[in-house]
Amino acid sequence: MLISDRMLLKVIVLGDSGVGKTSLMNQFNKQYKATIGADFVTKELHIDDKLVTLQIWDTAGQERFHSLGVAFYRGADCCVLVYDVNIQKTFETLQTWHEEFLKQADPSEPENFPFVLLGNKVDTNGGTDRAVSEKTAREWCALKRNIPYFETSAKENYNVDEAFLCVAKTALASE
Ligand code: GDP
Ligand code: MG
Repeated sequence: MLISDRMLLKVIVLGDSGVGKTSLMNQFNKQYKATIGADFVTKELHIDDKLVTLQIWDTAGQERFHSLGVAFYRGADCCVLVYDVNIQKTFETLQTWHEEFLKQADPSEPENFPFVLLGNKVDTNGGTDRAVSEKTAREWCALKRNIPYFETSAKENYNVDEAFLCVAKTALASE
């Protein structure tokens, strides 16, 4: 959506309960502005000469029941999928979240809709005892028309800013 010379992009964050969605967004708490049913935080970024505001929506735990209302999805400009690199099941469910997003948000060009995948909690086992390798995750992304992939740690604030910069760029590129 274009508001004068500012870009406002709606970003929604999906993934199984417990993968760290809320923790990732809490990195941006200082810019917290409002609550409308579901919570969102805002993050402002300068990209080229544009001021871009990400409005990042979080669930309030309803993801457990896959019962997020249509208003949550409506008008999304980018969908961030999150899994926990230490729990295989959260990786397998990505497929469901991907499909559910496309069904609910119903974007005009589903095959070109921007997604970004985050493999979170890369701190937990120091990478030695992971359930899902980076290679496996990247292969899944390649099958989905090259979804950008980031390994993150909300706990250590690792790669989170980089990931959301990519979210903004990916969403802008598909405007
Ligand atoms: P959500 O259900 O997806 O919103 O997940 P939460 O953000 O509530 O996080 C679930 C649990 O995982 C909490 O105990 C967090 O402290 C923890 N957590 C979240 N992100 C990380 C991370 O990057 N590393 C580690 N070690 N723990 C995390
Ligand atoms: Mg949460």
